[in-house]
Amino acid sequence: MNIWDDLIRSNRFLVFAGPCAVENLEQIMLAAKVAKALGAVGLRGGAFKPRTRPESFQGLGEEALKYLALAKAETGLLVVTEVLDEDSLNKALPVADILQVGSRNMQNFALLKLLAKVDKPVLLKRGLAATIEEWLGAVAYLEAGGNRQIILCERGIRTFETMTRNTLDISAIPLLKKLTPYPVIADPSHAVGRRDIIPSLAKAAVAAGADGLLIEIHPRPETALSDGKQSLNFEEFEQLMLELKPWVQVT
Ligand code: PEP
Ligand code: MN
Repeated sequence: MNIWDDLIRSNRFLVFAGPCAVENLEQIMLAAKVAKALGAVGLRGGAFKPRTRPESFQGLGEEALKYLALAKAETGLLVVTEVLDEDSLNKALPVADILQVGSRNMQNFALLKLLAKVDKPVLLKRGLAATIEEWLGAVAYLEAGGNRQIILCERGIRTFETMTRNTLDISAIPLLKKLTPYPVIADPSHAVGRRDIIPSLAKAAVAAGADGLLIEIHPRPETALSDGKQSLNFEEFEQLMLELKPWVQVT
């Protein structure tokens, strides 16, 4: 059986946890061990980061992929990492089990056409201002090229509200479960951008029928090179996983 069949048949709640960006071996190894111990199926970690500004940390690239491979060998977790283009896709392919399309690239049709030809699951995030119809268009690009291994990830959309980074569109979760045969997960980290209310959003996503969560965790969020404000520390992540246990199967 391949990874996709295992994931779908396992009936497990699909938690992908890890730092926004891979920063060094120690950081990703610590996060991987905690993610594994608490019942995650996958380790997330950006190697190629699509940052809003060019002077921001762009990711360690191939060095990060090496560290992800070591963390995978140590824990057996599936590796989820974002690809931006043909070059990063080719570099990520030997290490990544699941290829992430970030919000900024949901309508990068050239990238979607490349991923449509890959025999690996694609974690397709919702565009930051994309309608559900547009998101389904991106799904159709993957399907049209022959890839039906798709995980949909609601990560919040831009609204008039500024107290949160984005607004988690809870209704997208049950809607997509009606409209597609694919697992739908939520990313409360990028949706709200502040760690204090991530657990509430995670639980709301579960109540709405989400099949899993993508969560940013970091051994020392205050020192993170990206998205520290929305990264849970390990204690906070453990608490969240404990709170989810009565509702979902995490091991
Ligand atoms: C990420 O997952 O680190 C990321 C960049 O997310 P998004 O594409 O949802 O902004
Ligand atoms: Mn991030």
